[in-house]
Amino acid sequence: MANTDKDLDVLAIFSHPDDAELSVAGTLLKLKSLGYRTGVCDMTRGEMGTRGTVEARAREAHNAAAILQLDVRLNLEQPDGHIWLTEASRTAVVRVIRAYRPKLLLTTHWDDPHPDHAATCRIVREAARLATMKLYDGESGQAASKMPALAHSLFSRLVPPSFIVDVSEFVEEKMKAIRAHTSQFYSAGSDEPVTRISEKGFLQEIEQRMRYMGSLIGVEAGEPFYVREALNVEDPLALLTRPMNIYS
Ligand SMILES: [Zn+2]
Repeated sequence: MANTDKDLDVLAIFSHPDDAELSVAGTLLKLKSLGYRTGVCDMTRGEMGTRGTVEARAREAHNAAAILQLDVRLNLEQPDGHIWLTEASRTAVVRVIRAYRPKLLLTTHWDDPHPDHAATCRIVREAARLATMKLYDGESGQAASKMPALAHSLFSRLVPPSFIVDVSEFVEEKMKAIRAHTSQFYSAGSDEPVTRISEKGFLQEIEQRMRYMGSLIGVEAGEPFYVREALNVEDPLALLTRPMNIYS
């Protein structure tokens, strides 16, 4: 568990205000139910989005945070559509990591086809390492932090998951948190332009992906992650005799 009132156990850093909900909301809800302190940091305010204003999106992110029972929701106000690995973006993330000292960071995978997502992943990986170096951004006056673990949420079929989290009990709450972003997704009366994610079938597709990932580990719903580092296993028997799907 976290050491101080402000420390987080897990922090999810994603590009746009609904990305964490779409990717790792089930895992965040599960970790919260286990008693961990959870947070989300959005890199941008989503101002490039076809639907919704910056103000509306901020309200929606706030509402979704309440559904996810987050301890913290932050926004770094980086330029949407123009997230780059720069000194400024790295420093902004280093400052968040040092302020909240998460043990685990969740973010996208570097091979994600959306340029903002891929760039966010690289910024987060580098910032996690730089935050441990006392003299990096020394003028902030923040203490160096311990290197957090990193797990990358997956969307592309081209990256095989290192593990899948059973989120069967949290599907409804996850979908509720996604739908809190009302400007972005399907709603019957909306006169906003139709985008890929606001089409009627998109939320169904998200749920089907969770069901498919769940099927790979023999449960009702799952969220997939990739870990670049080797996993340190204490008891391989306990790990490998958990329910699995031998056809996965
Ligand atoms: Zn996004």
